[in-house]
Amino acid sequence: MKILVINAGSSSLKYQLIDMTNESVIAKGLCERIAISGSVLTHKANGKEFVFKNDMPNHKVAIKMVLDALVSPECGVIKSMDEIAAVGHRVVHSAEDFTSSVLVNDEVLKICEKNSELAPLHNPANVMGIKACQEVMPNTPMVAVFDTAFHSTMPDYAYLYGIKYSDYKNYRIRRYGFHGTSHMFVSGEAAKYLGKDIKDLKIITCHLGNGSSITAVDGGKSVDTSMGFTPLEGVPMGTRSGNIDPAVIEYLMQKKGQTISEVMNYLNKECGVLGISENSSDFRDLMAEGVFNGKNKLAVDAFAYNVKKYVGAYAAAMNGVDVIVFTAGVGENDPYIRGAVAGNLQYMGVDFDDEANKNFKRGIISEISKPSSKVKVLVIPTNEELVIARETKRLAK
Ligand code: ADP
Repeated sequence: MKILVINAGSSSLKYQLIDMTNESVIAKGLCERIAISGSVLTHKANGKEFVFKNDMPNHKVAIKMVLDALVSPECGVIKSMDEIAAVGHRVVHSAEDFTSSVLVNDEVLKICEKNSELAPLHNPANVMGIKACQEVMPNTPMVAVFDTAFHSTMPDYAYLYGIKYSDYKNYRIRRYGFHGTSHMFVSGEAAKYLGKDIKDLKIITCHLGNGSSITAVDGGKSVDTSMGFTPLEGVPMGTRSGNIDPAVIEYLMQKKGQTISEVMNYLNKECGVLGISENSSDFRDLMAEGVFNGKNKLAVDAFAYNVKKYVGAYAAAMNGVDVIVFTAGVGENDPYIRGAVAGNLQYMGVDFDDEANKNFKRGIISEISKPSSKVKVLVIPTNEELVIARETKRLAK
């Protein structure tokens, strides 16, 4: 069974074709600059990379180009589109409407469109991706896999903000959480690696990338997470501020003469480690040899400190922790930040292994706590596309 996984953004579309008999990636790629001049498809298959520069005025044309590439004699991996058993789509926001993945029908699409008001940068593009696929492959089942669904198990006292209850009810203002497929995947992998039933584990998963979130997973269920109503909440990220006192918004508007949308754009795109360093949103730039000092180092240290605070908070929330997991671009690659977060948590039962942390191997699970450590610390490569493919296989059967 072959499954196509689609992650559609407003001007981009990432895809992977996965063979579910062995969960291997047969082909993958990226369409960029959809509906902008200079559209380009980069397609990787059979160990080679192919670049197609053709106009993509909309997502439907982009999907057609992807399918053409997948079946083409030069760079294809399948004989015909009929080999694609189902398509799994990443959809960012399910609000309280879906608590797990669903097979797409007209009703589901309508709800995803309605929820665009909660994720205006993501859901409209995700829906566009689904509709484009439906037009080109009308008989192939489509599945929607939501970023928020894994967090639907949070208890009400964890997802409610300290605002009027009627505003939660009327306007759906609450914590939703994001990166759900990643937190679900790595917590499952952690249990497998340790040979334990996930129901018996308290796990804190740290998805640290350009966007970052930390989740408390108790018995396999998300019970709290650092991102909130939007992905702006939580730790300072590449360009997002993370938590600030909401009063800062009005104060900034007064001081800088900015509108509310200008301030929101600032908090989303100009803050976080970019804002503190006033240099780069990319952790590699901040930590490169010879420049890891001054405001660059301050930005990285502020980031790690805030991650550590969530680890402490979630250990308290779960009355303990058995495993701490690091994943995503920063979590999988950077020993300094992992050390700053978990190297000094002896009180919690973490016996951190500095050598194992420095000598970890990329792309596989590494244990970076000492064998005697009560709390295990693991580096686990995430795989959100595989979660989408597995969910799609489960529902499209
Ligand atoms: P996204 O949220 O865009 O999916 P990723 O999970 O790909 O982000 O993470 C991107 C971040 O990971 C960037 O800030 C990048 O600098 C960082 N990163 C990638 N590789 C390394 C590395 N070897 N060392 C430190 N940081 C890294």
